[in-house]
Amino acid sequence: MTLHRRKESIVEYGRQLIASGLTTGTGGNLSILDPDQARILITPSGVAYDAMSPADVVVMDMDGGIIEGRRKPSSEWNFHVALYRKRPDIHAVVHTHSVYATTLACLHWEIPAVHYLVGFAGRKVPLAPYATYGTEELARNVAESIGPANAVLLANHGLVAVGPDLPRAFNTAEEIEFVARLYYLARAAGEPQLLSDDEMDRVIEKFKNYGPNTGTLDD
Ligand code: 13P
Ligand code: ZN
Repeated sequence: MTLHRRKESIVEYGRQLIASGLTTGTGGNLSILDPDQARILITPSGVAYDAMSPADVVVMDMDGGIIEGRRKPSSEWNFHVALYRKRPDIHAVVHTHSVYATTLACLHWEIPAVHYLVGFAGRKVPLAPYATYGTEELARNVAESIGPANAVLLANHGLVAVGPDLPRAFNTAEEIEFVARLYYLARAAGEPQLLSDDEMDRVIEKFKNYGPNTGTLDD
């Protein structure tokens, strides 16, 4: 994929963040890793998604140095880079302020296995301790708290979802927001019945082959 096409996909998924209701205003941010070049492409800071164009996307090295771009990079570039450094399987990071995930993050609750779809993140969605947005302390907290999961709540802030590419990281952000909403509603109504670690491990295994088969007529 060319650098321009990668920048276009950042802009497209930024618009989807708003369209899907996962964030409002200029909240949240997105990045992808270009592992061959040891660089990341990240949304600019404080630019509305509907006004963003590929030329606004910032290209950075793994130390936060700017390689290309006329804009300031997202204020959260620290935790994006920290996640790529921590977990080589992560090639995309999606940060949202989606309402239910953020509500649970304000309560300092993790999301346990209340529904099998939590398997998009892992056995549970952990919680990273609070630190001021855009700080190295927040980046440390996020990288230390995520463990093997594909999503982590940021206390009093929001949600981070990760994946091997942008479509999958984005999908995880959507599914975890859905599960956060269910967990909130279930806790409001009573005591949710949780799935066991064994069951979640079965689900996580099945998810590896979930989706349409790829050996189709198009191949
Ligand atoms: P940026 O616009 O700098 O990416 O900040 C948005 C945000 O969500 C900070 O946590
Ligand atoms: Zn944020």
